[in-house]
Amino acid sequence: MEDQQDLMTSEFHSQIQEAMKKGVAEGVAKINEHLEEQKNTPLNIAITGESGSGKSTFINAFRGINNSDEGAAPTGAVETTTEVKPYPHPNHPNVTLWDLPGVGTPNFPADEYLEKVGFERFDFFIIIAAARFKENDVKLAQEIKRMGKKFYFLRSKIDSDLYNEERSQKNFDRQKTLNDIKENCIKGLHHQGIEAPQVFLVSSFELHQFDFHLLEEILERELPAHKRNAFLYALPNISKEIIKKKKDAYQAQIKYYAVVSFLGAAVPLPGLSVAVDLVLVKKVLKEYVIGFGLDEKSLKRLADSSGVPYSILVSVMTSQLGATTITPQLIQNLLSQLAMGSAVIAAEEISRFFLVIGIPLSMCLSGYSTYRILNFLLDLVADDAQRLFEKVVKKTSEV
Ligand code: GDP
Repeated sequence: MEDQQDLMTSEFHSQIQEAMKKGVAEGVAKINEHLEEQKNTPLNIAITGESGSGKSTFINAFRGINNSDEGAAPTGAVETTTEVKPYPHPNHPNVTLWDLPGVGTPNFPADEYLEKVGFERFDFFIIIAAARFKENDVKLAQEIKRMGKKFYFLRSKIDSDLYNEERSQKNFDRQKTLNDIKENCIKGLHHQGIEAPQVFLVSSFELHQFDFHLLEEILERELPAHKRNAFLYALPNISKEIIKKKKDAYQAQIKYYAVVSFLGAAVPLPGLSVAVDLVLVKKVLKEYVIGFGLDEKSLKRLADSSGVPYSILVSVMTSQLGATTITPQLIQNLLSQLAMGSAVIAAEEISRFFLVIGIPLSMCLSGYSTYRILNFLLDLVADDAQRLFEKVVKKTSEV
């Protein structure tokens, strides 16, 4: 995965270098093109399984949407999906989860299923079952493989299995119960002809528990490099590791913004000793706020799905960036906390990058300041995302 990513990066850097030789405008255009691509790379995830297996609830949980919210995939045992329905991620509309009808329903017979759902558009399939995986699930998996696509088995509603087992067994052993469920699913699938099946145990009500993080890691590894960031950005903030990975992905883009801002016209801000490209900083900061779900709408959804009151969520954030409109004044206030000093110390990463693409270091002051400012703001936003996550997890474990 890393090699694939590195290869892409060095190829891209050569392209910028080439473009810069033609002129600054060409260099900027190349970088902007890359940044736009990063934001808009489509990722289409197909969710399939029998009606009632928990597809819609998983789709909603992944998107941070409560089952009863506007835009939620309809849930409930009586609801049957009879068509392929797209559910875009509210903050990352390039990422769509698709609710697929169960295999073998009258309009979707097993042998025509993949054709009928338009399998080409999907990056991978998640096959969900609430108990055993059945013949149709297996047939589908084999067919997906034949078409050269990937699939992952997800065993849903684990919370309710544990609850039931705990109530009915004297010597309840949580880990053993989980192992047994997984083992049974694997054996069943193997028996039906799937070689070395991988099964992930998930509760859509508690994505931070059980195997969701394993599924996340495998998907991240198996996705093509250019789709990786789209996936990462859209992940719910359900672990410290995911928050860190998202932050790293955003961090890796900062050098490009630094160059764009250096090559554009940076305007000195009153009270700050260096020029700051405020328009660009504001634009990128908004992306961080939305990307980490600190905007008002995301926080309201988080309040709904976690049961932690909105006002409490707002109160745990310390950056002043959550649930508010990002204004130039707000950014300026925050930046006064960042000791810019007279000498802006160039980070090694950005210096190297400037040299690679052929900009003399002595000319890069505004690029450096943008680099430092964006790193500083990204830290604030990611730290708040972490605080929110801790608050929500604490509440869930109290229940
Ligand atoms: P779909 O028909 O496959 O889309 O299934 P739904 O998402 O509508 O879920 C069917 C029922 O199972 C609903 O009552 C959900 O609340 C419930 N359900 C779904 N996922 C979970 C889960 O992870 N845990 C528990 N306990 N119930 C779930």
